[in-house]
Amino acid sequence: MSLRAELLARIAANGPLSVAEYMQECLLHPRFGYYTTREPFGSAGDFVTAPEISQMFGELVGLCLAQAWADQGRPAAFTLAEAGPGRGTLMADILRAAGQLPGFREAANVVLIEASDRLRNEQRRTLEGIQLTFVNTCAELPDAPLFFVANEFFDALPIRQFQRDQTHWRERQIGEADGDLCFGLGPLSPQPALAGRLDDTVSGDLVEYCPAAAPAVDATGRRIAEYGGAGLIIDYGDWRSLGDTLQALKSRSPVDPLASPGEADLTAHVDFEALSAAAPCACTRVTPQGIFLERLGITARAQALASRLSGAALEQHIAAHRRLTHPQEMGNLFKVLGLFPHAGTPPPGLEV
Ligand code: SAH
Repeated sequence: MSLRAELLARIAANGPLSVAEYMQECLLHPRFGYYTTREPFGSAGDFVTAPEISQMFGELVGLCLAQAWADQGRPAAFTLAEAGPGRGTLMADILRAAGQLPGFREAANVVLIEASDRLRNEQRRTLEGIQLTFVNTCAELPDAPLFFVANEFFDALPIRQFQRDQTHWRERQIGEADGDLCFGLGPLSPQPALAGRLDDTVSGDLVEYCPAAAPAVDATGRRIAEYGGAGLIIDYGDWRSLGDTLQALKSRSPVDPLASPGEADLTAHVDFEALSAAAPCACTRVTPQGIFLERLGITARAQALASRLSGAALEQHIAAHRRLTHPQEMGNLFKVLGLFPHAGTPPPGLEV
């Protein structure tokens, strides 16, 4: 059986799926899910993330978190957590760079929030020699000071989509037509969670809502507010999204999201306004990734690394710097939201 056949059987038995139910199955189905079965990262994969482009990304994130830790009086015994660690590359770079601050590594309890068993094994391999704790959700993080990062995690959380019809909404659904999956619209219903979106939309507009995002920000923000710490949420998206941003990528090319369930990566733009609104701690202004990395000194770090390189390796390094920071590459599309305690200062590189 394929995932497509399984989903069609489920639709025949129980009716259409929400976009969130479809995304959840495509990404994390125990047998056919994209993250369960595929190797999406790296040069042979479907997409390349910032930590896979250059070690500079994780080093600067690590120094940012380590500085926030030092600014808060170097709490002994704290949680260093990453949500959706992929191959473990970012955490490895964070630990190497932040380890330069005496005492940081010894005090860090490394916790990884990861749903895929296959990727947990890959993370264990990358981070060999480091004591790791795995959890399924941010709600399971220990009650302790929390230094947290999530890069391209929130874009993988399932979204629901709603099309406005006067003052009500119809949910976009996935049903069956001519033996294949197809999009349709559900019945007209009020959606109290979307009350705020009646101000900035007109009939016919489509808006997205990510039910799992607020609980994740609430769980991390609550620990930062109560015990101290800092959080960096890095992802593509904007303050508020409008329209259909569901995107499927296969071999780095966009494909129809319904064309190959479980075989393509599915993501949606992150709505940073919703994340900020859900944070029970202080939040920074949403800052473009390029500006954040420049403020943390990526140019100086790039020059230091370049002095040891030549030929193709040097060209690749220069291209990686550009890719991470240039406004026409990842510099502007990706944004950073910082979390910090109410009475504290924003993490380095960010401002309120
Ligand atoms: N941060 C990494 C990988 C991003 S891909 C990088 O920058 O390279 C998304 C990651 O989130 C994968 O590790 C995936 O398995 C994990 N993930 C996706 N949905 C999840 C969920 N609901 N709960 C926990 N982890 C999830």
